[in-house]
Amino acid sequence: MSLVAVGSLAFDTIETPYGRRERIVGGSCSYFSLAASFFSQPKIVAVVGEDFPRETIELFKKKGIDLQGLKIEPGKTFHWEARYGDDPNQRSTIKTELNVFQDFSPTLPPQYQEADLVFLANIDPDLQDDILDQIKKPKLVAMDTINLWIQNKPSSLLKVLKKVDIFFANEEEVKMLTEETNLIKAAKKILQKGPRYVAIKKGEHGALVMGKDFVFSVLAHPCEEVIDPTGAGDSFGGGFMGYLDMVNSFEEKEIRKAAVYGSVLASFAIEDFGIERLKSLTFPEIEERFLEFKKLVSF
Ligand code: AMP
Repeated sequence: MSLVAVGSLAFDTIETPYGRRERIVGGSCSYFSLAASFFSQPKIVAVVGEDFPRETIELFKKKGIDLQGLKIEPGKTFHWEARYGDDPNQRSTIKTELNVFQDFSPTLPPQYQEADLVFLANIDPDLQDDILDQIKKPKLVAMDTINLWIQNKPSSLLKVLKKVDIFFANEEEVKMLTEETNLIKAAKKILQKGPRYVAIKKGEHGALVMGKDFVFSVLAHPCEEVIDPTGAGDSFGGGFMGYLDMVNSFEEKEIRKAAVYGSVLASFAIEDFGIERLKSLTFPEIEERFLEFKKLVSF
């Protein structure tokens, strides 16, 4: 099986109640692929400028991430600045500098076109659509999005939504897209628009996965300190899709386990700024926390 992910590689400037970090490595593809790399060897489609750190590229290689689809263009890497208040679920975007991301329009390498699983991270839905069109016979396609695209490109977003199997979004985004305040009603509306499953990320309250005939609720790891919430959603997606790629089955039983692994990976990502915690994470730590999750819901 093979998993292709398209998204951003970025420099992020982040401020949380625990401090401020300038221009640290981030981007949806960094979080997604590092999280997925514990289960599979994700292939990434992304662009960076010549300023992107060599050591991060070496780290990705060491983690088994396939970089054939990574373009290094003259110019600067995408830069995003955000600030979080005391509530880690609320963030304000201060700045988005697209830089080399502006004209990103990749042609996928031949091996990528044969991918079985596809993850379209929170990028422009027209670009998501263009990339999806290049993949010949995917078995499972998932997409993520952000408020920006729901507000600015709703019809493009709905076009991609029709073609995907899993829609990942957070609570606020799902409510905005469906104009529903009740999450179950909102999830049902999304299921009518195309996807087989919807995975709604609820921050410190975990996630809700709904299919046409099942609902599964997964907790978030109970933690007292969220150092940096950035990338929790993409790490959730990475754990989820990486696990499905590894087990090569999309049955309800595996979807449930995938959601737990997603939540486990997200719980580690928020323990430090940027990708730091995912860099030092080991598989035994993931398994230990997976078992803790099991205990949490056993009664
Ligand atoms: P998450 O916290 O999982 O929603 O993802 C945060 C990541 O998304 C950050 O590391 C940003 O670099 C990246 N990001 C933010 N805005 C955009 C955008 N407009 N397009 C692509 N990536 C973005």
